[in-house]
Amino acid sequence: MTRFRCVPMDTASAARFRATRRDDRGGPAHSRIVDGPGFPCRHCLRLGTPGEEMLLVSWDLPRPLGPYWTPSPVFVHARDCARAEVADRLPETVTANAIVSLRHYDAEGMCLYDLGVVVPGAEAEAALRPRLADPRVAFVNIHTARPGCWLAGVERIEG
Ligand SMILES: [Zn+2]
Repeated sequence: MTRFRCVPMDTASAARFRATRRDDRGGPAHSRIVDGPGFPCRHCLRLGTPGEEMLLVSWDLPRPLGPYWTPSPVFVHARDCARAEVADRLPETVTANAIVSLRHYDAEGMCLYDLGVVVPGAEAEAALRPRLADPRVAFVNIHTARPGCWLAGVERIEG
């Protein structure tokens, strides 16, 4: 079976947003207090719990570079949180989402259109596993399907 790990936001980016309260587009970080579902932290890959403060920022995604590069709106906990270490399963930030988009890229960051799929978050792992076994795939980005916000990266564990 193909093994995989989830790739959260890097800790330096999360720390930068907390310290500066500015986003990667030069705008202010927007403070939001969790009052229901829909606040997925991209650093710990956990859902914000009621009463927690989250920062909503525009983040320059580290990959893919090249023509498919995009920034993304993302939430991150305003407090320090531990960077997620999740392997061989998808985090609740993905599985709890009603509908997600799996975007597959090769080692040059080119999008593999034939593998792209939109599925309920609870079904994303079943869709992901056979696609990750495709040797062309270097990594996958999972986005919310409707607004298109990045949720997490995924890459194979080789060997
Ligand atoms: Zn967090």
